[in-house]
Amino acid sequence: MNPEFGPKKKRSVIFYYLIVLAVIVAINLFLVPVLNSQKKVTVTYSDFLDMLNGGLVREVQLSDNAIRFTAALPSDSAKQTGAETLGLFETGRIEDPNLISLLYSKKVAFAQLIPEEVSPILSLLLYWVLPLVFFVVIGHFLMKNITKNMGDGGVMSFGKSNAKVYVAAQTGKSFADVAGEDEAKAALQEIVDFLHDPDKYKQIGARLPKGALLVGPPGTGKTLLARAVAGEANVPFFSISGSEFVEMFVGMGAARVRDLFKQAQEKAPCIVFIDEIDAIGGKREGGVGIGGNDEREQTLNQLLTEMDGFDGSKGVVILAATNRPESLDKALLRPGRFDRRIPVELPDLAGREAILRVHAKDVRTEEGLDFRAIALATSGTSGAELANIINEGALLAVKEGRDRVSQRDLEEAIETVLAGYQRKNAVISQKEKEIASYHEIGHALVAAMQKNSAPVHKITIIPRTSGALGYTMQVDEDEHYLMSREELFNKITTLTAGRAAEELVFHQMTSGAANDIEQATKLARTMITRLGMSDQFGMTALSVVQNAYLGGDASLACSEQTAARIDQEVVDLIAKAHGIATEILQRNEPMLHRLAACLLERETITGEEFMQILNEPAPDTAGQDT
Ligand code: ADP
Ligand code: MG
Ligand code: ZN
Repeated sequence: MNPEFGPKKKRSVIFYYLIVLAVIVAINLFLVPVLNSQKKVTVTYSDFLDMLNGGLVREVQLSDNAIRFTAALPSDSAKQTGAETLGLFETGRIEDPNLISLLYSKKVAFAQLIPEEVSPILSLLLYWVLPLVFFVVIGHFLMKNITKNMGDGGVMSFGKSNAKVYVAAQTGKSFADVAGEDEAKAALQEIVDFLHDPDKYKQIGARLPKGALLVGPPGTGKTLLARAVAGEANVPFFSISGSEFVEMFVGMGAARVRDLFKQAQEKAPCIVFIDEIDAIGGKREGGVGIGGNDEREQTLNQLLTEMDGFDGSKGVVILAATNRPESLDKALLRPGRFDRRIPVELPDLAGREAILRVHAKDVRTEEGLDFRAIALATSGTSGAELANIINEGALLAVKEGRDRVSQRDLEEAIETVLAGYQRKNAVISQKEKEIASYHEIGHALVAAMQKNSAPVHKITIIPRTSGALGYTMQVDEDEHYLMSREELFNKITTLTAGRAAEELVFHQMTSGAANDIEQATKLARTMITRLGMSDQFGMTALSVVQNAYLGGDASLACSEQTAARIDQEVVDLIAKAHGIATEILQRNEPMLHRLAACLLERETITGEEFMQILNEPAPDTAGQDT
């Protein structure tokens, strides 16, 4: 499989040295003589004597077989200014017994030139060996860098995996660093236990799975969990990312898999962790692969072979992580390979609170922060985002010159992480602000007027770097796992209410509703095609979800005619929701104006303030803003 890369790679090394050699030869042939020659003019001996007698010669250096001298050049300016231009001359030396006395009589400074004792060895060293060594060193570092970027150990170790080897102390992570995810931890604990005491399992004849696959959305702590396992198990930990296998020379991927497993077996008991395994473990296509795919398949095949080949009882456990489990080749999931799947899901309410607490330990916080409130407001976020919220909160505290993170910092950080940074100095016209106020109050008011709708937590029209001119945050009092058809429909109604308010008050449409429209459409489509919440189709699955963990795009799985009917039903459903939203707003128009004016003035109002205004007895004159 590998003969391809050997010669290819060697050729490029040889090529490099050929170029280096050519450069050195060129330097020695052309540059060195030019530098040494210093622009000497060679003259005959008789010319030299003429110049000497003419009083032009100034300084003479004698060597065994040459005479070098400086002499004044005849020039016009020299006559005028008295300054003279000196030239460098050379002539061959002739047996001339009178030379010394002649020089003496002309009062010319002369000296025997001490022969430049550059021994041939030294010059060889200076002109040939030194540059060669220089280039070899440079070349070595270059190669090393190149191969390192490809994830390889160096020029001399083609095909060797350079999986990073961690020992426990180096990963420095333990299960305590992973908050929530109790099921995943329990499953992994078993593996840790096995690595500590394989005999206990062997005695009873239990066979531990060779491999476990961590699956879940990005940022849920899969990589973190794997590193924690290594920390807990106190065994060597080989970690490599699937993508590293792929960015390599042809044939290297398979070679590296082989080497990785060889190393692992030598170091057993140990853990091999392949992060983002989907990069190599994707489904193989039938038929002839083209180019890169072929390479990936070879790597995958090698991985399968190795996983079958080694003796699981020795204590090599293979962990892998992916957020695209459905794209994995079925062969990988067969018993005896990654037969255990460990779901690492987005954290629930308690999990989010725990994650916030874990990360809050790293920063200085005020006493008695309400992490549960933060957790409630961050439904659907991943551990990575929660960690980010704590960090953004800390940054905010620093920015405002405080030395402790406050509740308000965290509240603000949620918005920063989920909606982008505030653009406090963005220039937004008064008219646009007004439209934004009505839009957001539209959402909030319709949400508040419907049953089964999450309470409004905050409304703001401070623009964000994400491009949003404002938003309404709804926070449930408790975590929801199930949503009724009515709740979902109410949600769509709430989403359409922003545009509905704009239309009602300004009789125009703006682009501000783009995101609402997208969400509403997606929700409506999901209700109809996946949740069986349509009168027309009933409980029929009309679409399949792809990449459930990466946004979950659904693709239709039905005939064209059905697709057209689905589209129509989506349109109808949203139109119905929009109608209801408009109706609610019309019924409460005075309240809409009052709330919008208030939001326009304060820019941000909290859920409580909102409810307070809402529950106040309406004054006779509903203050309409102009
Ligand atoms: P994944 O590999 O699933 O994409 P990572 O393991 O790289 O996610 O997680 C990224 C970061 O998010 C971690 O380094 C950690 O700081 C934080 N994080 C994620 N999940 C958790 C968790 N359950 N407990 C604590 N921190 C977490
Ligand atoms: Mg990861
Ligand atoms: Zn909106």
